[in-house]
Amino acid sequence: MKKSTLPRRNFLKKSGNAVAAISLTSTPLAACATTNKLAPLPLANKDWTIQQVMDLMIDKIPGGKKEQTVDTIKIGDASQKVTGIVSTFMATVEVIEQAAWLGANFIITHEPTFYNHLDETDWLATDPVYQHKKALLEKHGMVVWRFHDYWHTYRPDGILHGFLNEVGWQEYLDNSRENVCVIPSIKLKDLAAFLKKQFNLTRTFYIGDPEMICENVGILPGAWGGRTHIPFLGKENIEVLIIGESAEWETVEYVRDAAHAGMKKGLIIMGHARSEEPGMRWLVEWLKPMVEGVKITYIGAGDPLKPV
Ligand SMILES: [Zn+2]
Repeated sequence: MKKSTLPRRNFLKKSGNAVAAISLTSTPLAACATTNKLAPLPLANKDWTIQQVMDLMIDKIPGGKKEQTVDTIKIGDASQKVTGIVSTFMATVEVIEQAAWLGANFIITHEPTFYNHLDETDWLATDPVYQHKKALLEKHGMVVWRFHDYWHTYRPDGILHGFLNEVGWQEYLDNSRENVCVIPSIKLKDLAAFLKKQFNLTRTFYIGDPEMICENVGILPGAWGGRTHIPFLGKENIEVLIIGESAEWETVEYVRDAAHAGMKKGLIIMGHARSEEPGMRWLVEWLKPMVEGVKITYIGAGDPLKPV
């Protein structure tokens, strides 16, 4: 499968004030960095603004700035000086509190802050949970920026790269098939147990014959949806697909039918958060050399679902 054929779940059209604000507040220095690819300018002190950090990161992404993306500023004033950066999968209330305690004013989050893909807030205006979270962010002068589309566009895909680091599978990556590893033979039930241990998962599910031998493994951390999972399982000749989450009536039922029909297909469900968190932890390593002198911390939000 060519890279261009794997649809990206969250690359939806979105334009708005936050996107416009990026270009309005772009600095001459950031513009310089964009045109001078061979000599990126390191951030050498804490006088940099949050916008300048954002511009520096975007400059590293193939294709540069996106006009249509969910990766917008969700709240806050990016023209302020950065006091510290937090990278996380999810800017939960707890993560925001911890970021404030660390003295950071810039949270980079992979997923939405306000409980919907586009972070639309009109429908939440009178909701007490939304109000609490918004007030907390405002109290601490926090800027929240989503870094989803950009991180998946980076090569290697930042989330996949972090995942492979976590399982030690970098050497198994199949360069001819995107998001596929060819691993030493392992039974489906053992692969699920391995992932549970490696990622310290509190809940792990699988579908398919537990004794099925797996070698060609598809990896789609996060929630790509059945329309991506199902063709991927079919076209890539893979035995098992590892995902973050799926609607239970989509990919889950497809794999149940495939397995019952005798086809060698399996599915392992890790939970959305834990499947993508290593990618946001790797972001800290990636960003650190670019923003010398600025404290960057990874905060794991963890899996919100607790097994009984
Ligand atoms: Zn993702």
